Amino acid sequence: MKGNGQHVHVFSEKQPPHGFYFELVETLKDYVVLSTDKKGTITTWNSGAETIFGYTKEEIAGKHFSLLFTPEARKEKVPEKELKTAYKKGKAPDERWHLTKHGKMFWAFGYTYPLYNSLGKHTGYVKALRDFTEKKNIENNLSFLAKASKILSSSLDYKKTLQSVAKIAVPHIADWCTVHLLDNAGIPKQVALAHIDPKKVKWAKTLQKKYPPNPDAPTGIPQVIRSCKAELYPVIPQEVLVKAAKDTEHLRLLTEIGFESAMIVPIIHNKQPLGAISFIATSESDRHYTTHDLSMAEEVASRASLAIINATLYQASQKEIEERKKTEEQLRRTQAQFQALYNANIIGVIYANSKGKIFNANEAFLQTIGYTRKELEKGKINWNTITPLEYKEIDKQKLKELRKKGTATPWEKEFVKKDGSQVPVIIGTVMLNPVTGENIAFVLDITERKRLEQRKDEFIGIASHELKTPLTSIKGYTQILERIIEELGNERAKMLLSKTNTYVNRLNSLIGDLLDVSKIQAGKLQLNKEHFDFHDLVKDVIEGLQQTSTTHTILCENCIHAHIYGDKHRLEQVFTNLLTNAIKYSPKADKVIVNIQAEKDIIKVSVTDFGVGIPKKDQNKLFQRFYRVEKMSRQFSGLGIGLYISAEIVARHKGQIWVESKEKQGSTFFFTLPINKKK
Ligand code: ADP
Repeated sequence: MKGNGQHVHVFSEKQPPHGFYFELVETLKDYVVLSTDKKGTITTWNSGAETIFGYTKEEIAGKHFSLLFTPEARKEKVPEKELKTAYKKGKAPDERWHLTKHGKMFWAFGYTYPLYNSLGKHTGYVKALRDFTEKKNIENNLSFLAKASKILSSSLDYKKTLQSVAKIAVPHIADWCTVHLLDNAGIPKQVALAHIDPKKVKWAKTLQKKYPPNPDAPTGIPQVIRSCKAELYPVIPQEVLVKAAKDTEHLRLLTEIGFESAMIVPIIHNKQPLGAISFIATSESDRHYTTHDLSMAEEVASRASLAIINATLYQASQKEIEERKKTEEQLRRTQAQFQALYNANIIGVIYANSKGKIFNANEAFLQTIGYTRKELEKGKINWNTITPLEYKEIDKQKLKELRKKGTATPWEKEFVKKDGSQVPVIIGTVMLNPVTGENIAFVLDITERKRLEQRKDEFIGIASHELKTPLTSIKGYTQILERIIEELGNERAKMLLSKTNTYVNRLNSLIGDLLDVSKIQAGKLQLNKEHFDFHDLVKDVIEGLQQTSTTHTILCENCIHAHIYGDKHRLEQVFTNLLTNAIKYSPKADKVIVNIQAEKDIIKVSVTDFGVGIPKKDQNKLFQRFYRVEKMSRQFSGLGIGLYISAEIVARHKGQIWVESKEKQGSTFFFTLPINKKK
């Protein structure tokens, strides 16, 4: 039995009320004590009942006690059932909302007992109640807290759970509940809203849209979030509403809502605000928040914070897991792709370090160099021992490039096979670990390509030889013809023969160039060196060419004398080639400038034209065999071997050759030769 029952027991003896009874119940100021007749009509009413229910003794006398119940309870015939139970069982509990004269609800707790007179006759009932609203509120708070905690820990979708919390707050502990969270920009955004009357949710939203809260107001949600300090308003006086209202319409709406009490609590994590929860009681429940309520609200806020942080952490960890999965998947795919390449036997793959140790290699590589896997595993294959001497220098350079850039551009080299023969390959390397120098090399066997190239070179060699022999005969016959025609004095025939000679000479020089190419390829280009003044060579060549060129003037601007030890005929070939190119590739210009300068122990020869110029990307490729600038190749005929031969001749004289050029402006070709000081 609940605590206060004992006071009433005194009167539950089968005795009717008497003077002593009235005196006693008058002293119980916190209790409602009333008696009724058998039908429930009130016969006595103590002063406790007067204060709590608001009816005076006179007002209540003769009224049925069901007046004290809520309309719902009356509808359910609770008062009648209570009397019946009391009569049958000797006692009936009463624990529910009751209604005061002024329409205020309060939570009452007590019992109703039957009354008997001295003869044992049933005469009526006595009822004792106590206002337990405060206790009820605490119970409510606790039950709300328990439910809210359960909801908050039930899901990781914290926006949904906050909405559920707001929903159960109403009508448990508030008539209106909102949750605001700071968005990414740090602005409070409402994420949940519940109202005792669902229809009013929409209305509340419109109100908020029409009159958005002032973010700089000294009180209210933004301030609670800013300061991380809760606000409690046990009562909301009209002045507060007047202050908060933006205009008379706003004030009217606020008054209509009937604000009674409010509390706003911050949601905090690590001293940082995340948002706020506000609980509002309106005149509908007539509730007034106390510091107890505030503690409960703060507890809810702290659990909400936990839920938000948990969810955020979870989301972050999920994201991380997903990212990791993605990376793993990518890695797996790359590995699979690489493995496929590794196993495909199309290209050799080597894992090595910068000292030349080969850790692993695929079958394609082993086949290329003719070793077995066992030999590899025994450490018998080392980059350095399978590299012929002549490739050590380029390998060294490529290793430098690899260390510097992380990759080395592909280069051609050869490896010594197990049987001692050499295999030509193209290699590209990628650094795997710059600290240990571990790298991966891709090796493409180019034996087939080299063989083809060789055949082509052989063909060029044979073809030019075959052409050269009849051409020499033609040349011989034309010389004889020349003499005969001279004797005959036929001018027309002489002119035609001279033309024939020009073409024969051009053909001769082309075939000569081709022969030179095959000689260079075979390493058989011979030099017949002699001592001479380079100035004389330049002068002779210019004079010769000037005679045939009607369009250009060849100017020797600063041509010094310089003694050279070299193959005069071959160097003439180089200079002639540069001059004829300068004329050929500057059809709209009228001059070519030649320069010879001495620099320390070399001479620097330059040939400048004002012609079509050479694109930057082509400039260092011009000296390769058969290379021609594609853009110009249709406009100008040629084989693309003149500069290749020139470069070889200059290199064989320990000189250098290069070009400086600007498209549409012209080019200057330079070459250097060592000066012979002994002479
Ligand atoms: P060819 O002139 O027979 O094509 P070369 O080996 O002499 O062969 O020259 C290679 C290429 O270099 C030419 O095709 C041309 O595209 C370019 N070239 C050479 N000299 C010049 C120059 N003076 N001006 C512009 N382009 C040049």
